[in-house]
Amino acid sequence: MDCLITTNRQGGTTRAGGAPGYLTLDLSALARNYERLAAEVAPARAAAVVKADAYGLGADRVAAKLYAHGCRHFFVAQFAEALRLRPLLSADAMFFVLNGLQPGNEDACAREGIVPVINSLEQWQQWASAAQALGRKLPAVLQFDTGMSRLGVPPEERSALASLLEAESGIDVLFIMSHLASADEETSEQNGDQLAEMNRVAAAFPQFPVSFANSGGIILGKAYHGVLARPGIALYGGAPTAGRPNPMEPVVRLDVAVVQTRTVPAGTRVGYSGSHVTAETTRLATIAAGYADGLPRSLSNRGAVYHDGIRLPIVGRVSMDSITIDISALPEGRLKLGSLVEVLGPHQTLEDVARHAGTISYEILTGLGHRFERRYR
Ligand SMILES: *Cc1c(COP(=O)(O)O)cnc(C)c1O
Repeated sequence: MDCLITTNRQGGTTRAGGAPGYLTLDLSALARNYERLAAEVAPARAAAVVKADAYGLGADRVAAKLYAHGCRHFFVAQFAEALRLRPLLSADAMFFVLNGLQPGNEDACAREGIVPVINSLEQWQQWASAAQALGRKLPAVLQFDTGMSRLGVPPEERSALASLLEAESGIDVLFIMSHLASADEETSEQNGDQLAEMNRVAAAFPQFPVSFANSGGIILGKAYHGVLARPGIALYGGAPTAGRPNPMEPVVRLDVAVVQTRTVPAGTRVGYSGSHVTAETTRLATIAAGYADGLPRSLSNRGAVYHDGIRLPIVGRVSMDSITIDISALPEGRLKLGSLVEVLGPHQTLEDVARHAGTISYEILTGLGHRFERRYR
């Protein structure tokens, strides 16, 4: 398929082969982002958060690449994600399940050497029972809620947990952790509040090292790093801090193919419900991606795509499988059947698309569908 694609000066593609679109993932940029974050947190270690198929980019390729660049700690959300990735990496790679275990997964988890994050006393008891039944120690990470009310042992259960820790449980706690709710907002006072709470937890459980920072937390500074940082979005090129220049390298590029072009007179309705009506003679192109491919319907009449650096606004509603764009700004005949337009790339970042769609980069990235052809550089 590669031989059917021509490459332009920016390294992007201008013409499609047979695919409706190309999701191009720059694994070297991913590795450089990892190394940059690892250097930032040194002497602490940097893990990689590869949940949700590495934010939609392909967890097997991402994990293998990061392993080759020294990463040994991989966080997923669900046990099934760890189960799939575990055999792909050497035994010294560790997999942590952020949501902890659903009842019934304990034996498989123990057998595969996957480490659950224990979020509640109930999960602790289940993991302790599994250890007892197997007659051996089982590893775990302990998560504390420091102010997000999402996952982790709440403050009022800390003393009960301390008692459980004193008894012989068969659980080997590797480290304790918590998660920041506002790390991407530098000036949020929630960061300092959570840090103070994390320090209280660390003082109450001084026998364990701490893991705290996500991407944004790394940028907040040393106090947030603990011994193991857990970046996700920044690895994949997303901005770790809102409203600041993004220090990370872009990893993802998305080009989508044109499937039809037309010229319409003034007063022509475009798309479902005719929500756009042309003001003058307009050249339009329809491209082969829609909300089923992860380009949200909220981009209707708002977002844009690019070609040769020229902005081509989205006109009318985003459909399930297609979007119509106004290509009047381009020379006539420039775009034809099979031409590619840039959705994500040098002229439009993830954050740009997210802003137009009224969401965050995470949701755009994890939503990019599976109908694009993936290419790894
Ligand atoms: C998703 C997640 C991360 C990674 O967060 P980013 O903001 O993508 O860096 C880290 N820790 C926990 C507990 C998470 O759920």
